[in-house]
Amino acid sequence: MKKVSCNIIKDVLPLYLDGVVSEDTRQMVEEHLQTCESCRKEASALKRDVVLPASKTVRIAEMKVLKGVKKRFLKKKFIVSAVSVILTLAVLAGVYSYMAMTKECIPFDDGAIRFEERDGSIYAVLGRGNMAGAVGVDANSVEIGGEQVNAAVFYFYSTLWSEYVEPVFTSEDEKREESSFYIGESDEVERIYYGEFDWRKDDPAHFLDDVSELELVWEREER
Ligand SMILES: [Zn+2]
Repeated sequence: MKKVSCNIIKDVLPLYLDGVVSEDTRQMVEEHLQTCESCRKEASALKRDVVLPASKTVRIAEMKVLKGVKKRFLKKKFIVSAVSVILTLAVLAGVYSYMAMTKECIPFDDGAIRFEERDGSIYAVLGRGNMAGAVGVDANSVEIGGEQVNAAVFYFYSTLWSEYVEPVFTSEDEKREESSFYIGESDEVERIYYGEFDWRKDDPAHFLDDVSELELVWEREER
């Protein structure tokens, strides 16, 4: 009942405020306004719109516009930061893969690599922690200088990542840790060559096609 009354009151409020309603309506509205806060608010809002000087109305309108702009600005800011997070991650991923992909053969002559025979197997041991990995091909019978030899080939490599970033996160003990790389069975390996080679070649024997590119670093002594 009250709700219907309110709707009627709100309908006639502008007319009431303009003073163009009948005496009965005027009384009805005033009685209602005494008991109904919601309609009182409506009435004073209407009154303000009508009575306030134009400059103030304009300012209210400007504030509304500013609010809208602020909202839009915040939204934009959020989108911008989401984009910059994604961009940052993409750049970091790019930097990481660049740093992790650029393999650099660790020179054999830096003295950190030696060979060890354990339990009938031969291993290359790198005496420094900051390496990224090793690539090797098991001993194969290949013809080198008119001689048939069983030769293995391998190399240790570092990356920009393992060289410059990993040491930051590894302890001194870890930095001194040795890495062992299995070369082959002791009685099968006659020579070990060291150096970068194209490991994607299909036939492992062809890794040693051009031995001049590689360094002979170990040879079984004749027994
Ligand atoms: Zn009301």
